[in-house]
Amino acid sequence: MSERDEIAVVGAGLAGCLLACYLARRGYPVALYERRPDPRVGTPERGRSINLALADRGLDALRRIGLEEQVLADALPMRGRMIHPVVGEPQLQPYSASGDLAINSIGRGALNNTLLEAATKLPGVRVAFDHRLVGLDPATGEMTFETPQGTVTAHAQVVLGADGAGSAVRGQLLEHDLLTESADFLDYGYKELTIPPLGGDFALDPGALHIWPRGTSMMIALPNPDRSFTCTLFWPTHGTASFASLGSKAAIERYFAQHYPDVPPLAPTLVDDYQHNPIGLLGTVRCDPWQAGGRVGLLGDAAHAIVPFYGQGANCAFEDVVELDRCLDECADDWSAALPLFQQRRQDNAEAIAQMALTNFVEMRDKVASPVYQTRKKIEHA
Ligand code: FAD
Repeated sequence: MSERDEIAVVGAGLAGCLLACYLARRGYPVALYERRPDPRVGTPERGRSINLALADRGLDALRRIGLEEQVLADALPMRGRMIHPVVGEPQLQPYSASGDLAINSIGRGALNNTLLEAATKLPGVRVAFDHRLVGLDPATGEMTFETPQGTVTAHAQVVLGADGAGSAVRGQLLEHDLLTESADFLDYGYKELTIPPLGGDFALDPGALHIWPRGTSMMIALPNPDRSFTCTLFWPTHGTASFASLGSKAAIERYFAQHYPDVPPLAPTLVDDYQHNPIGLLGTVRCDPWQAGGRVGLLGDAAHAIVPFYGQGANCAFEDVVELDRCLDECADDWSAALPLFQQRRQDNAEAIAQMALTNFVEMRDKVASPVYQTRKKIEHA
C-alpha cells in the first residue's frame, strides 16, 4: 500500500473518474465523492443522456492509460457532418479530404460508467456515492457531505473539485473569498428528442453528425450503438420560434412539419419528448484562480465550463487530467507547486476553446447551410 496521503476528488463524473485513475497510478490512495447514487445500477435521468463527440484530444488521455479501446467499444465514428436543409436532400460535409478523420459519438453515461469501472478496479480508489459536498474548509481540507444517513465529515491533505459547471468546491472557495467567478448564460437552452431504429436499422446515416441549421437555432443528432439517434434542439428559450412559443401538440407538430420536415416521420415520440424532456442551460463559467493554497484545486467544467458547440468540454477536461499529471511529474508531487503550474498551462487554452465554442454556434446553426461556405469547403478539400 502507498505511503502517500489520500487525495479527495469531489465528483465522479468524466474528469473525476479519469483523474482517480491517473492519481491511483501515481500511487495515491483516492477517495472519490459523488453526490448521485452509483450510475451503474440506476435508470438515467429523462432527456439528459447527452451524446458526446469524443475527439483525439480526449482519446489521447484514455490511450495513455490503456482505456481507449474499451471506451471506443461503445462509440460510433462520425466522418463528417450531414446538413439537412428544409427542402432538398441532406448533404455530407466530410471532416477530411480522405474521409478518414472521425470524431466519435458516445453516450456520456456509457463513458462515465467505463471510467468509473476502471477507477474502482485500481488499488487504493474508494468511491463514496450519495455524498454531496456542502462544506469545505480550504485551510484544513475538512469536508462536509450530505448523505442519506445524515451529515458526515471527512478530511484530505489535497481536495480536487471535479464536480462540474455548478461546482460546490468552487462555491466554497468563493465563499471563503479565495476566487472570483463569472457565469455567462446564453438565451438558448437544449432539449433532447429521440429517433428510434427504423425496421431494426439506423433511420439516418450513422457515420455522420447530423445538423439541421435553421439560422437562429438548430437541431443535431448523434448515433447510438442501439441504432437510435439522440437529437438535441438548441433553441432560444423565449420569443418567437423558441421553446416557450410551442405550447400545444398541434403547434409542435406544425412547427416541425414546416421547419424540420424530414424529422416527424422518423420520430414517433417527438411530441411526448418535446413536452416532457427538460430544457438544459447553456453557459460559460470562468474563475480565477483555479486553486487555493496548493491544497484545493479545480479542473474540468468546475474550472472552465463552456457551451457545447465545439464538442470539446469533455475532451478539454481529459486534457486537464493529463496536464495535471505532467505538472505533478515536473514538481515531484509537490502540490503547492503543481496546482499553480497546472493553471498557468491550461487557463489560456480553456479561454480559447470557450470563445471558439461560442463562435462555432453561429457556424453550426447558420453558416454551414450557406452556399458560400459549402464552396469554400470544397476548395479546401480539393
Ligand atoms: P461533469 O461531467 O458535470 O461531472 C461532475 C460530477 O460531479 C457529476 O457526477 C456530479 O453528479 C458530481 N457533483 C456535482 N456536484 C457535486 C457535489 N456537491 N458533491 C459531489 N459530487 C458532485 N463535451 C465534449 O467533449 N464533446 C461533446 O460533444 C459535448 N457535447 C455536449 C452536449 C451538451 C448538450 C452538453 C450539456 C455538454 C456537452 N459536452 C461535450 C460537455 C461535457 O459534457 C462536459 O464538459 C463534461 O461532462 C465535463 O466533465 P466534468 O467531469 O468536469 O463534469
